[in-house]
Amino acid sequence: MFHQKTAAEIVAVGRQLVSKGLVSGTWGNISARIPGAGDFLITPSGVPYESLDAQDLVLLDPEGKVKKGTLRPSTETPLHIAIYKKRPDVLAIVHTHSPYASVFAVNRRELPPVLEEQAQLLGGTVRVAPYAPPGSKELADGAVTALEGRSAVILANHGVVGVGRSLKDALLICQVVEKGAQVFLLAQLSGKPHVLSERDVALLRRNFLEKYGQNPLSSACALKEQSRKDDDN
Ligand SMILES: [Zn+2]
Repeated sequence: MFHQKTAAEIVAVGRQLVSKGLVSGTWGNISARIPGAGDFLITPSGVPYESLDAQDLVLLDPEGKVKKGTLRPSTETPLHIAIYKKRPDVLAIVHTHSPYASVFAVNRRELPPVLEEQAQLLGGTVRVAPYAPPGSKELADGAVTALEGRSAVILANHGVVGVGRSLKDALLICQVVEKGAQVFLLAQLSGKPHVLSERDVALLRRNFLEKYGQNPLSSACALKEQSRKDDDN
């Protein structure tokens, strides 16, 4: 099997998407760059995660041309191509349709940082990419723009995309988006949630990247720091 380790990780993350309730059926998709190459492995279209096998994955070049695999790649392949092209710091992408984040997606409402882990892992407010049909270039372009300087983006009326330095990180980012969405909605029902200030977000993020864990700056979420004038509004 080609790129066995990466393929096995994608299959494992797929099982977790289902077990953690982040997708149902065959929705969502997962990809990872092949270390040292521009190619990436992606899940096939319409294959249930429970029966997904490493052999089912499709190896694509950076332009989306099939290099190996017999099944059709995910219909969201253009989204993955666009993100990898724009973000050399991203090595893995996980796309989910998780329920609480979907509330923000249908309201087309940004998810503000209310939890410390949101500030640490997501880099601040998760923006919403404008609605566009799944699989379209418009969706890919809108998602890449809204993802600037962030590790997650909400797709209007659709779902969430998390990106990271590894598949594990991209999965964790999707989980943090889902938890943040759930907590924020419940907090609004039971009180008046306080959003972390821009200053606190910057401090939490910096401390996390520089000091947290055994290998600061080698993990998660140590994605390329970018600035953007309209950040954190
Ligand atoms: Zn989707």
